[in-house]
Amino acid sequence: MGNLKHYYQALKSGDVFFDEYRKSALILGAVTILHAVFALFFLLTDVLVLSVYNIAVVAAYQGILLLIKKKRVYLAYILTCIEVVVHAILATLLVGFASGFQVYCVAMIAVSCYVTFTWECFKKGTAETLLFSLFSMFGYFGCYALSKYVEPFFVVDELASTIMYIVNALLMFTIIFSFMMLLFWDINHRSDKLAAKNSQLDEMSKKDPLTKLYNRRFMNYELNRRMSDLMTDGKIFGLIMADIDNFKKVNDTYGHEAGDDVLIAVANEFTNALRGDDCVCRWGGEEFLVIINGNHHVTGEVAERIRKRIEELSIETGGHSLKVTMTFGISESIPGLRVERLIQIADERLYKGKQSGKNCVIKE
Ligand code: GH3
Ligand code: MG
Ligand code: MG
Repeated sequence: MGNLKHYYQALKSGDVFFDEYRKSALILGAVTILHAVFALFFLLTDVLVLSVYNIAVVAAYQGILLLIKKKRVYLAYILTCIEVVVHAILATLLVGFASGFQVYCVAMIAVSCYVTFTWECFKKGTAETLLFSLFSMFGYFGCYALSKYVEPFFVVDELASTIMYIVNALLMFTIIFSFMMLLFWDINHRSDKLAAKNSQLDEMSKKDPLTKLYNRRFMNYELNRRMSDLMTDGKIFGLIMADIDNFKKVNDTYGHEAGDDVLIAVANEFTNALRGDDCVCRWGGEEFLVIINGNHHVTGEVAERIRKRIEELSIETGGHSLKVTMTFGISESIPGLRVERLIQIADERLYKGKQSGKNCVIKE
């Protein structure tokens, strides 16, 4: 029972575990049971030919299952469709159109839609769905045409014929409903997977792969957004441009990998020091740009706090404990001032800081 629930959940979620082989094995399992029931029914109602045919079909489906095991899913499905049509024609000839075995041709359209859309071996083109559907229609009208010209071989009484029709029609509705549900689940699962992939790609396009901070592209977008917020709501913000001091020396002395470790450690320090509504990015090699939600005074305080944290930080890399410092230049947003100009002001102040001995915050 628990196993059944697991299968149900896997099927519903479109789990990869439920591959084409398992899906087709499940369908064939259901079809085999159905034919075994028919075989018993026709045995009891003395329509021996159909009973024997159904037993033969049960055996044939085991062969089809083998084909699926050998990954010949396409051929297996074509053979299944042929069997459904042959079965409908044979039943029409033997027990009449009124017994309703042709309705499985109608149900086959739903199965074909599901199979051609979800199974990898099909091209997911509507042409295949159309071909299988036309074949189903051919089967249905073939039975109808036969019933017009050929009397059924067995005389089936009214009640038996009605029961057979109702059972067949009920099964037809069940098959159509089940396969439509399977199709919806599959489509839902695919669109969920696509949405997850899209948000993953979206995240990747915004981030710097080394430090996991936002990248320059995202920051440009964010800066323009904040600038338009400033124009509409007067929400003031500040910019910090920060650069690691003598970073080239770190690379030259301890190697590029150690340099990378320093960048990661510094990036983490920025993230930890900032509030959720601030935004930090890796602007370039060892340059970081921060948007601070606050005025010039607040921005200066934050920059000073980060400067101290970096100064106190010990970075463990390759058996060494490294220490670095950073220089900061800040600017404040002024409505109507271009974003590029804001960055330029912060950059000029950073340069001033480098000229005046580094490891400092320059506010004006
Ligand atoms: P200053 O104090 O004036 O900023 O000197 P600096 O040595 O930090 O500046 P400089 O511009 O001379 O050197 C920056 C170095 O940063 C050079 C470059 O190789 C290194 N760098 C840039 N990006 C990366 C990176 O992704 N990883 C590593 N390890 N180094 C990088
Ligand atoms: Mg530097
Ligand atoms: Mg630099």
